[in-house]
Amino acid sequence: MKQNIVEQIRDSVDILDLVGDYVPEIKRAGTYYKACCPFHKEKTPSFTMNPDKGLFYCFGCQTGGDIFDFIMKMESLSFNEAVRKLAERAGIDWHQEEIMTEEERARLKLYKLMDFAKEFYHKQLFSERGAQARNYIKSRSLTKETVEKFALGLSFFDGLTAAALKAGFTIEDLKKTGLVNSNKNDLFKNRVMFPILNHRGETVAFGGRVLDDNIPKYLNSPDTILFSKSRVLYALNFAAPAIRKEGRAVLLEGYMDVIAAHQSGVANCVAPLGTSFNEGHAKLLRRYTDTATVLFDPDTAGQKASKRTALILLEQGFYVTVATLPEGLDPDEYIIKYGADSFKQITQTGKDIVTYQLDSFLNGAATISAKEKSEFATEIMDIIARQQDKIIKAEWLALAANRLGIEQSILLDNLKNKPKEKVYKEAAAPQVKKENLFKGFLPAEISLLRIILKYPAYVGLCDELQNTPLSKTQVGVILKNVALLYSENADGFGLTQKLLQALPQLKEFILELLVKEIPQGLKPKVEIPNLIKRIEEFYLQKRYKELQQQLSSYGPGQVPLALLKEQIEIQKKLKSK
Ligand SMILES: [Zn+2]
Repeated sequence: MKQNIVEQIRDSVDILDLVGDYVPEIKRAGTYYKACCPFHKEKTPSFTMNPDKGLFYCFGCQTGGDIFDFIMKMESLSFNEAVRKLAERAGIDWHQEEIMTEEERARLKLYKLMDFAKEFYHKQLFSERGAQARNYIKSRSLTKETVEKFALGLSFFDGLTAAALKAGFTIEDLKKTGLVNSNKNDLFKNRVMFPILNHRGETVAFGGRVLDDNIPKYLNSPDTILFSKSRVLYALNFAAPAIRKEGRAVLLEGYMDVIAAHQSGVANCVAPLGTSFNEGHAKLLRRYTDTATVLFDPDTAGQKASKRTALILLEQGFYVTVATLPEGLDPDEYIIKYGADSFKQITQTGKDIVTYQLDSFLNGAATISAKEKSEFATEIMDIIARQQDKIIKAEWLALAANRLGIEQSILLDNLKNKPKEKVYKEAAAPQVKKENLFKGFLPAEISLLRIILKYPAYVGLCDELQNTPLSKTQVGVILKNVALLYSENADGFGLTQKLLQALPQLKEFILELLVKEIPQGLKPKVEIPNLIKRIEEFYLQKRYKELQQQLSSYGPGQVPLALLKEQIEIQKKLKSK
């Protein structure tokens, strides 16, 4: 049963489609495909996929495996969670509880509670008592489709707790999901409810906006085992396809801004939730694009947040621009007044962060004191120092020097005296060292393995190699195992899987062999004997040289006959080849 589902999923999920959800672009490279690795930072693609085998392998960080390995690593899932997720993706119906662990079952129950709450709040919005909330939604010009898409709802002063208990959930469940306060009452009271979905589309939290004068104006669920503020961006589940398509993400300040943007068709917009944008958000976003526009409120707090956000993005390797809307308008107000096209235009332009900072500093005050200028120069150099791209860095330095009227050398001196601090501390990214796994092997040996893995039926042709020193290397071990598995009727993907299971210590080695396809039209019947001949010759010549060296150490008449005989036999064999 379990095996069946795994096989079924494997047959229906295409690795290119799956990986395509996480990387900006997949390129064809011969018979295989390449993308920039989502597991380590890189500019030239070394993440390779073989769609026929459903395998991937990164030559940069040497991560590899099948669709299950990929999704487990990408989403930090257990194997069972990965099966569940991929089964849902493939539309395969199965009884997930059967293969779940106790912990996963508990989590699933909490997800069900969140869905229950979402529906409960949504229904209340359309109840008789919901008129005030509906008027508020109307006043923000939200359409019926938008209300449905974002599953907006309404909380009254009570009701959810009782309803959830009646539906079979416990107070413990309600506590774990943050839906009740410490008095075991509904946390959200008299608020318009915004379900918060993670990037996988699971409801993990709620945001609530007051309908009266209560504070806080916006209230979010606390962090729970399902929800971490610093790892969720509002509407990313809806925005992801547009972000990939446009090659750009737009960061807005709140959920109303995001909803208005999506409603107007500008769908690459997301927002952090009740917390300032942080490194976790930047990393999440980096799975989809490397270009971002920050569009926050033009007030002082908004400007400060823009700068901080831009710096965090810059540190994660983004190209960042900062955009502002005129007349102090919110995105939804702007869209109503000037239309979606104009709004979209603004999100696509914007100023780079240095220009933005210079403009707001120089245009902000009538006179600038020397001290203010010095402080600002330190600040702007701190930004410039974070730029990885040397050309952009040089351009920015020239721009800052020019507009501040300070020589570049003085700005640079100032920078050297200040230690560079990170806006957001992070563990140093693991140094990815690329080591050639095939070092020390003959190209012919590697080619032979590749062909045999594709055409295991020909493994018998390699038998004679088992008498060469090759039998003791990885190459020999793999050949021997393929022969064994093939004799047990394993073939195709099943054989590859069993081989990886049988030789876990050679996983990287085997994956690296598998991802690179062998040339099309190659005739294994012809090519294999050729390669075997070359390999045998190599080992014979090697042995011949060894013998030569040994023999030369003996004086005349002392040469052991056995060695001499072996050398002559090798000579004969080499001639006959
Ligand atoms: Zn990698």
